[in-house]
Amino acid sequence: TWFNFNQMMQEVVEDLQRTTAKHTLIEDFNADTEIYSDKDRVGQVLINLITNAIKYSPDSDEIIIRTAIENNEVQVSVQDFGIGIAQDKIDKVFEQFYRVSGDKEHTFPGLGLGLYISSEIIKREGGKIWVDSVEGKGSKFCFSLPIKARV
Ligand code: ATP
Ligand code: MG
Repeated sequence: TWFNFNQMMQEVVEDLQRTTAKHTLIEDFNADTEIYSDKDRVGQVLINLITNAIKYSPDSDEIIIRTAIENNEVQVSVQDFGIGIAQDKIDKVFEQFYRVSGDKEHTFPGLGLGLYISSEIIKREGGKIWVDSVEGKGSKFCFSLPIKARV
C-alpha cells in the first residue's frame, strides 16, 4: 500500500528510542514522500538495522539515521560508531546464520538472521541493501527502495 515514508520512519525511531537510554537516535529525514511498498516489512528492516547499530556500538552513543530521495528512490542509512566489521567478513553479513566472531571484550547475543531477513525483504520490495564499515570505527548500513514498485 501507499504510506508516507518519513512518518513510518518517525514511528519506528520513536519506538526504538524508548528501548535505549544510552543511545541517541539522531534523525536527518529528507524523504517526505508517499511510497508504494509493504510498510510493516520495511519497518522490520529498520528495526533490524537500528537494533544492530545499538547492539554493536556498546562504547559510543550516537546513531545517525538519514533518509533522502534520489532518482525516484528513497534511500536510508543507519550509521553507528561501534565495533565495525572487518573487510574480509563484510560480504558475508547478509548470509543466513552468519555472525562475525572474535571480539574479545564483548559478547553479543543473536542468531545471525536479522540481516538475512532484511535483505530478503528489500529484494522482494525491489530495492537494494548494502554496507560500508571500518573495523573499530563503525558501520553504515544503507538501503534504497523504489518510490513506486513495478506492479
Ligand atoms: P539477530 O538474528 O538477532 O539479528 P545478529 O545481530 O547476530 O542476530 P544479523 O543482524 O544478521 O545477526 O547480523 C549478522 C552479523 O553481522 C552480526 O552477528 C555481527 O557480527 C555483524 N553486524 C551486523 N550489524 C552490525 C553493526 N552495526 N556493526 C558491527 N557488526 C554488525
Ligand atoms: Mg541483528
